Amino acid sequence: MPHTPQKNPIPPDKTSWGAVAKLSDDNKVLQREILEEAATGGPGREPVKQKIGDYYATCMDEKAVETAGANPLKDGLARIDRMRSKRDIAKIAASMPGLNVPFNFQSDQDYKNSSQVIAEVDQGGLALPDRDYYLKTDAKSVELRQAYVAHVQKMFELLGDAPGVAATEAQTVLRIETALANGSLTQVERRDPKLLYHKMTFHDLEALSPSFRWKKYFSLAGQPGLQSLNVTAPDFFKTMDATLKKENLASWKAYLRWQWLHANASYLSSAFVDADFDFFGKTLTGAQELQPRWKRCVNYADNDLGEALGQAYVQRAFPPEAKQRAQKVVQQIEEAMQQDIDGLPWMSPATKQQAVEKLHTLANKIGYPDKWRDYSALTIARDDYMGNVLRARVFEFNRRIAKIGKPLDRGEWDMTPPTVNAYYNPQVNDINFPAGILQPPFFDPTADDAPNYGDTGATIGHELTHGFDDEGRQFDAQGNLRDWWTAEDGKQFDERASCISDQYSQYVAVDDIKINGQLTMGENVADLGGMMLAYMAWKTETRGQKLDSIDGFTPEQRFFIGFGQSWCADTRDEAKRMYATIDPHSPDKYRANGVVSNTPEFQQAFQCKAGSAMVREKRCRVW
Ligand SMILES: [Zn+2]
Repeated sequence: MPHTPQKNPIPPDKTSWGAVAKLSDDNKVLQREILEEAATGGPGREPVKQKIGDYYATCMDEKAVETAGANPLKDGLARIDRMRSKRDIAKIAASMPGLNVPFNFQSDQDYKNSSQVIAEVDQGGLALPDRDYYLKTDAKSVELRQAYVAHVQKMFELLGDAPGVAATEAQTVLRIETALANGSLTQVERRDPKLLYHKMTFHDLEALSPSFRWKKYFSLAGQPGLQSLNVTAPDFFKTMDATLKKENLASWKAYLRWQWLHANASYLSSAFVDADFDFFGKTLTGAQELQPRWKRCVNYADNDLGEALGQAYVQRAFPPEAKQRAQKVVQQIEEAMQQDIDGLPWMSPATKQQAVEKLHTLANKIGYPDKWRDYSALTIARDDYMGNVLRARVFEFNRRIAKIGKPLDRGEWDMTPPTVNAYYNPQVNDINFPAGILQPPFFDPTADDAPNYGDTGATIGHELTHGFDDEGRQFDAQGNLRDWWTAEDGKQFDERASCISDQYSQYVAVDDIKINGQLTMGENVADLGGMMLAYMAWKTETRGQKLDSIDGFTPEQRFFIGFGQSWCADTRDEAKRMYATIDPHSPDKYRANGVVSNTPEFQQAFQCKAGSAMVREKRCRVW
């Protein structure tokens, strides 16, 4: 049954509302203060402040943006218009760095030699969130595709195309994107790193996809002498080649115009922004209103200049004491994991030894990078908003491409400091906790231990456990794709993980859609393991102490309340539908209930009777 929490309704500009979204909003208010202050400073500002201040000021200059209309797209559209043959597609693709059109060119660690960074091409070229959106045949999916085609047509009309022409162009876009979707790997397939590693020579790639001028493309993209690379999804490039052959020049022009327009729509005048929101915000994710302009500008600044804005954020919101405190909890959780591995009844001593080595090699990154990214090569002008956006995109693309052929920089972060999230990277073997998530109510140095461990402790445990989930366990301590498990231990792990997959596959995500147990397996294993490790660490920390009840709740109850509160949230049905397809995390409700119903400690803390809803008869347990 749908429910509407009376006291905390989802704000109209949001697709979900809860502790994470609230903290994220609070962080934005602080970022806004920083940006406004930097925007008012004169020519004497530090370079970092000049960049974030002027970027924000141009973004907030609504009048200039309205006056510009679609003008900022002119050059790109003219380039596409001038194409004389399909051989020019490589040139156009290279002129749109960072847009994944019609594929994604980037750098990545070599899966089998993690200290080296190599070139990589990956599937791409779609405007909808996933290949499934183009291929599923249920009524809702068909309806959504119709709305998408109507949206593409509307956007072409905003560019000045006649309705009849725009309608044909929109059908062409759907046809080309559907073809590319057909050659793309599924989300579940992409969880298996072995399916994503096909290192080959430049000539192998040319043989795979001879219709695309790779030499021209790589040369324009800054890698003229590229000899070898990883091709994540060879079938995608075969499909791309077939589509290059099949569709004519006019069709490819329509597709490229759409991609250029779509990628930049949210930076244009309100006619484009509103139309873009109408489909991608409202129809696709259920938001009722566009976010206020300042919030969008904070997001863009965070996206384009995250480590410049992040410096000031950290100064204000993350004192050294907070970092020390977080480091201490991380260390305790790691000790709990070591203890847990040592005591595992199902793992052999040989695998245990390697697991412990991986745990000890893992790097903890807390709050922010030791060395800030250098933005000095990026020009941010006070009077050129779209120019700033485009230059920032090129800067980021070049930064990634410049890593090819170089040793790995282990200090890098994939999230900006104000982000309310955390991650584990199996190829680096590190856990990363941005300052943005180490804030109340998640991490509150003034609160008592029980909820802090139930909440932040469980998140730390979650990230740590990712090193040993169905995906992470395939990488060794150095981040190399290598099977270090004995066959029997691998089997034991799979059995336990499939217990969790079976459990979550029973839960309904929304309407008629159940959770995809395979897609969410790694996250569900991490949720359960993380909570168990936090519980162990909390018990160790408070051993011998006499803990009192507070507000009528025992310490154990408060641990689980802290855990549950981190997932208290409400999400719009449209967004739930999207997440069920693309998000490896389960819906918030099951990130709480799916975990504790497996846990005897929870049953005991709340004295639940056997057979009650929150006590699973068949309990799952990995770690
Ligand atoms: Zn996770």
